[in-house]
Amino acid sequence: MKKIIQRNLPLSQTYTITGYNYVPLIDGDGTCCDNCGKLISNMVYVTDGNGGKFTVGNDCAKTLTIPQSDAFRLQVEIEAAFNEGKALRSKIQTNLKKGNITGAYKWESKDGGVFIVFLITRGGSSMQAVNYPGVSLTYIKDILITKPE
Ligand SMILES: [Zn+2]
Repeated sequence: MKKIIQRNLPLSQTYTITGYNYVPLIDGDGTCCDNCGKLISNMVYVTDGNGGKFTVGNDCAKTLTIPQSDAFRLQVEIEAAFNEGKALRSKIQTNLKKGNITGAYKWESKDGGVFIVFLITRGGSSMQAVNYPGVSLTYIKDILITKPE
């Protein structure tokens, strides 16, 4: 089992997760983790229930004392969102570099579904649904192209 070291946020306190967000470090408005002080881009917002609001990194959030439902949310939703963004970015960049695609753009269906369309170099396109657009699109916003006419 991983050894948990207490940092700024006391382990005796229970925190609840109020939200999460991804802010690329490249945007220049990086935030430091309220727990360990490191510059973070995968942010998890927590409150101590006494009016205290904190922003911690994804990894630090796992070390805090949080209710089981929040620990579950962290694992199945928040980490999944961060991972989706990271994977999409890597997929676009790798395929651009290999010359497999000429670009990728965002497409929204009538019912509000968000997709990334990959323009295949040899013709045609393929689509991938985005499950966590709020986070994933921030990961790739600088490498997407506008939809061709
Ligand atoms: Zn931290």
